[in-house]
Amino acid sequence: MAKIVVLGAGISGHTAAAFLKKKLGRNHEVVVVSPSAYYQWIPSNIWVGVGKMSIDQVRFKLKPVYDRWKIDFKQARATQLFPEGGNGFSKPYVEIEYTNEDQRGTKEVVEYDYLVNATGPKLNFEATEGLGPGKNSYSVCSCDHAVVTWEALKSCFSRMEKGEKLKFLIGTGHPGATCQGAAFEYALNVAHQIKVRGLQDKAEITWISNEYELGDFGMGGAFIKRGGYITPTKVFSESIFAEYGIRWIKRAGVNKVEPGMAYYETLEGEQKSQAFDFAMLIPAFAGAGLKAFNKNGEEITSLVFAPSGFMKVDADYSGKAFEDWSVDDWPSTYQNPAFSNLFATGIAFAPPHQISKPMKSPNGTLITPAPPRTGMPSGVIGKIVALNIVELIKDGRTDFRHKASMGRMGAACVVSAGYGMISGNAATMTVYPIVPDWQKYPTWGRDLKYTVGEAGLAGHWIKIFLHYMFIHKAKGYPFWWLLPE
Ligand SMILES: Cc1cc2nc3c(=O)[nH]c(=O)nc-3n(C[C@H](O)[C@H](O)[C@H](O)COP(=O)(O)OP(=O)(O)OC[C@H]3O[C@@H](n4cnc5c(N)ncnc54)[C@H](O)[C@@H]3O)c2cc1C
Repeated sequence: MAKIVVLGAGISGHTAAAFLKKKLGRNHEVVVVSPSAYYQWIPSNIWVGVGKMSIDQVRFKLKPVYDRWKIDFKQARATQLFPEGGNGFSKPYVEIEYTNEDQRGTKEVVEYDYLVNATGPKLNFEATEGLGPGKNSYSVCSCDHAVVTWEALKSCFSRMEKGEKLKFLIGTGHPGATCQGAAFEYALNVAHQIKVRGLQDKAEITWISNEYELGDFGMGGAFIKRGGYITPTKVFSESIFAEYGIRWIKRAGVNKVEPGMAYYETLEGEQKSQAFDFAMLIPAFAGAGLKAFNKNGEEITSLVFAPSGFMKVDADYSGKAFEDWSVDDWPSTYQNPAFSNLFATGIAFAPPHQISKPMKSPNGTLITPAPPRTGMPSGVIGKIVALNIVELIKDGRTDFRHKASMGRMGAACVVSAGYGMISGNAATMTVYPIVPDWQKYPTWGRDLKYTVGEAGLAGHWIKIFLHYMFIHKAKGYPFWWLLPE
């Protein structure tokens, strides 16, 4: 009997655990370790943050689902990894610390044959002074944050209804932050809610971002086919912001947030500030911060993890110059090079390099978005890693038939504003591949047959449909495995 431990029950880990158990059945053991009692469908946190969905519409308890699937769920946080065993344990193991009320703080050792690290991002608010919930800005990165954010937004609406004019600041809160798509979507939703309340003349909405041009999204932007024309995402994004009355500040590395004031460095090296009454700023992402040790108890964290805290996988980390990277540097099986029974999926794997061209200010500050790892690739990677582990266990196959490079995979981004069947609108964009392949597509970097963008109500319907489809899949309702990631 093999024992597979999955760390993290987000989009990637939950998908991996579901397929592992479905394919391996009762003969093998699947354990999931995750610090929250809930699964959350993060993309819909945007609607929680504007009061259009309740927290319980975007989350559900994991234990009943895992009980049904016969997966052992431990509500705990992984803290240390011992890939060679040691301390009297012959097998590799991970040390965990429980987070549920009954066992909070209790430590445990969980041995494994295979380990899938799907711990996602650490929301690194600390990397920017004064940033984040409980300090001077809000977030929609988790459903708990989004609830608090909506309360703050609601009170801004009441002040505006009484005649006050308010400033909204939405975007990235660190020079290297990624996830611009989520902030972009939140900005449009806030603008939409202001419009439906007839409060446009009381609001000044500003987008702030580390992107060199709008529409970069950490993937170096894209050229998209739109109504028969080829349009850069810069123009696509700027025209949407213009339509929603949102002004923008780009090439800005936010480095400090005080009550009502965000400070940022520009690419020219100037220090500037922007006042606000309400700010939702995405933090930098880091790895979960696991430490690794060999069987003698010596630290080997740098062997297993990149300095960012994300896990090293089958990527080229040789540190080539930006101009020299190739799409083939991107991983496809997500196996750790030092330990063949270790895998990292979703946001937890370390990308080999920036996709957006690194830009530095004269002070040496890197003001460039990190590569994005959106939901679809995170789910797909979770699934292919699970299928490869299954074939390894059942058939001894080591050739890893299932591959999912971000240089061979597309992504869809539906930026929807509004809520309901008739009052929504969306900018829908698909790109293929996510990482541009300049050898295969020398003119545009991507295949223009599948790299397209449109705006309209249909995309908004797709977004609502996807919400219900993905919750259905994650709850393991009938035929869940037929639904795409
Ligand atoms: C507001 C917002 C909107 C978004 N909208 C979209 C969208 O429309 N489309 C899209 O494709 N993508 C979207 N994304 C991105 C998408 O949510 C991520 O790509 C996806 O969640 C990544 O999945 P993951 O499993 O790698 O990480 P996560 O979903 O973050 O899951 C990580 C899991 O690991 C757990 N964990 C953390 N630390 C530990 C530890 N030490 N031990 C064990 N477990 C741990 C966490 O609790 C969590 O369960 C959005 C992101 C945000 C923030």
